[in-house]
Order: sequence, then C-alpha cells, then structure tokens
Amino acid sequence: MKYHSTKNTAEQHSARFALVHGLAADGGLFMPKEIPVLPDSLIEMFPSLSYPDIALAVLAPYFAGEITRNELKTLVDSAFSFPVPLKKLDERTAVLELFHGPTCAFKDFGARFLARMLGHWSESDGRDVTVLVATSGDTGSAVAQGFAGVPGTRVVVLYPSGKVSRVQEQQMTTLGGNITALEIRGTFDDCQRLVKQAFVDPELTTALHLTSANSINIGRLFPQVVYYFWAVAQFTRQFPGLPIAPAIVVPSGNFGNVTAAVIARRMGLPFGPLLAAVNRNDTVPAYFRNSVYEPKPSVQTLSNAMDVGDPSNIARLWRLCGENAAELKHEFDCFSCSDEETLRTMSEVYRAFGEVLDPHTAVGYWALAERRRAEPELPGILIGTADPAKFSETVIRATGAVPSLPPQLADCLERTKRSIPLSNRYREFADYLLSLDSAA
Ligand SMILES: *Cc1c(COP(=O)(O)O)cnc(C)c1O
Repeated sequence: MKYHSTKNTAEQHSARFALVHGLAADGGLFMPKEIPVLPDSLIEMFPSLSYPDIALAVLAPYFAGEITRNELKTLVDSAFSFPVPLKKLDERTAVLELFHGPTCAFKDFGARFLARMLGHWSESDGRDVTVLVATSGDTGSAVAQGFAGVPGTRVVVLYPSGKVSRVQEQQMTTLGGNITALEIRGTFDDCQRLVKQAFVDPELTTALHLTSANSINIGRLFPQVVYYFWAVAQFTRQFPGLPIAPAIVVPSGNFGNVTAAVIARRMGLPFGPLLAAVNRNDTVPAYFRNSVYEPKPSVQTLSNAMDVGDPSNIARLWRLCGENAAELKHEFDCFSCSDEETLRTMSEVYRAFGEVLDPHTAVGYWALAERRRAEPELPGILIGTADPAKFSETVIRATGAVPSLPPQLADCLERTKRSIPLSNRYREFADYLLSLDSAA
C-alpha cells in the first residue's frame, strides 16, 4: 500500500513513512492511495470472530509488504486487550462502549496501535523513537498511556504546571519507565513552542529520533475503522431479523471517527445512514446548509472534546468523497446539539433506560432521536466515546446519579506523581532531552 499527502496525490510513501512523520512536509494529511475492499464472504464471518481477529483482517491490507501477518497479529493482540461491549438500550438501539481502555475514552484505540507500530519499526532500526507531546491535558494522557511499556519508544510529555486536571496529571506522571512528564512553569502555548522548536533544532534531531504521534496521524485513524466492523457484527448477533440496516451515530469534533466510518463503508461494511453529531461548534452543519466551508473559532461546551471550529479531517473527507458539500452530504448527515439539549438527553436516557451517558455520547443520542422524527423505526448504533465518570460534574447535574469511577482511573489516582519541573526556557528543555540520549 502506498500513501500520499492530501495536498499532493502524486507522492508515493510507505506506511512506515506516513506513520513516523505524522504530517506530510507540505502540511497535508497522509492518506492511502486506495481503500482496499474486503470480500463479502470475509465480512460475513466477522460475527463469529474475536475483536483482535477482526482488527487483523481490517488492518493487514494497509501494511501489506511492510509487516508480516504474524508481527501485526502480535501488535494487534497487545493493543486491543480490553473489552469493547455493544450495550443494548432498547429493541433497536445499542451503544458501542469504546471507553474501557486505560484513559476511558476512544482515543486509546489510536494511541495504543500507533505506539506499537512505531515501537516495532524503531526496534528493527536499533534506535528508540522519542515522542514529544505538548498537552493541555487529554492528548498527553492518551499518548502517555498508549506508549507505556512499549519497547523501542520513549515519551516526553510537556504540560503546564497547575493547569491540567488532577486525573489528567496522574495519568501522565505516574507511569514511569519509558514515560517522562515535564512540568513546565508556563502555559500550554509555552509547551507547544518548546516542542516546535525541538523539531527544527539540528542538534536534537541528530541526537534523537523525534516524532509527534499527533491526532492527525493516519496510524491513529486505521484502528478506528476496525470498531465499526466489530459493532455491525455484534449488532447482527444481538438484533437478529431487523428489516432495516442500523444507522451509525458518531459524536464528532475533528471528524476522525466519521472519516474512519466512511473508510469502513468503502471497505465494504454494510450499514444504514451515517450521522455525525456535533455540539454548538457547527462548522460542518453550516457548510451543509450554505455550501461554503467557513472555519470558526471554537466555543466552549459541556462536550469539550468536540469543541472544534475547523475539523482537521475535513481534508481527508474531501479526498474520500469529493470536494464539495453535496458530495459530503451524500455520505453523512450532520446534526448540531446545544448544551441544554445535551443535559436534557442525559436526563431522559437515564430515566428511560437507567443508563448514564457522558455528554459527548449524549450529543450522539440526541442526533439519532432527531433523525428518528422522520424515520421512527430506524435502528441505531451509537458510538460511546467516553466514560461518564470522566465528566461526573455534568452527569450529576443532568441526572443526579454519581457515576462510579472505573478501576483504571481509581488506580492511577492512588499512585505517586513523578514529574520533572522545568522553566519555559528552551535551553533548559533541550539540555534535558540531550541528557536523556546519553543515559540511553
Ligand atoms: C476526541 C473526542 C471526540 C471527537 O472525535 P473526533 O474523531 O475528533 O471527531 C468525541 N468524544 C470524545 C470523548 C473525544 O475524546
């Protein structure tokens, strides 16, 4: 399989190049040159396969010729080692719970898989890869947890001291081993500036093999394609004989998960309408109405992981579907939900099913209900993106219920924090990184 940048389709890169670089030199996003189509006979077997077996079948074509099936199997078994339940809400609705990994949100799938791929390649190089991440909280904890204990990799997370939540800080500072947390006396912008400067500092880039593992890395998107195949397979088992194919409903911010669903459809997965659910950050629904793409500054909402005014994956959707609103609309529908509607949905779902949804997943439930005004019988698979315990204040406000803390969060809250305090001066940061190299 060959890869190109969304800005230059004439390029030919390997999967390894795309994953190691993350972002193309021209600022575009990497995409595979073609989307492989799986035979129907294979997809029909999926309801009897395990999650890692489905992952292997879906992911193998993207790395053909670069990694053996056995090597990929080992990486996949280790990346997806937690349950992925499809929980039934009523006779035609189920939630795919993607939040049973280490940070209790779906980003674990991408981070854990990318970590293992980069680790695999750097081992064959005989040189560790050093991942630098500046974070205001969520990205850093997902990357730190994703790479923890992966041979051939080392993560250095920079976070602004006193400006991340306690859970996030614990998730970054209690792992030890190949994960180091730098507690910067400064702001998130300082952290980002330090990391950017490191990537263009010849002294550092010679001494260390630096990479960024950021959220637009195509290596984080592929593992998200897998769970749509798993979801439809489980839905088929749990809801036999439904005459209509289920909708898939995706709470969305940067539209990575929607892009993954479009890729799954292109690979041959049969399902009904694809619904993207956004909060008040409604750049894409406005684009669908006006046919003009106008990025906006993001506004803060209760579903804050979706507070995105210029979704980065729009460039990938244009490549996949065609570069105008009509072509995208053909592929998925988009609904925008207010904070009031989010709270009301959380309360209604709790009263109807005794089920607590986090605010992001609730935005999705609301979108499904909107679509059902026209199509009441439409079955639906709702993508559950985060554990409600991560948003307990909002959950308590909406439902009165106190969500129980998942064991992996409770456990990390009890561990001892270990961070290295640094100023926001570049020299101090660079010297620290150089000292790591000689220690290795
Ligand atoms: C990142 C995130 C989203 C949005 O996903 P995208 O792929 O960026 O659209 C939704 N919910 C939660 C909890 C997230 O962390």
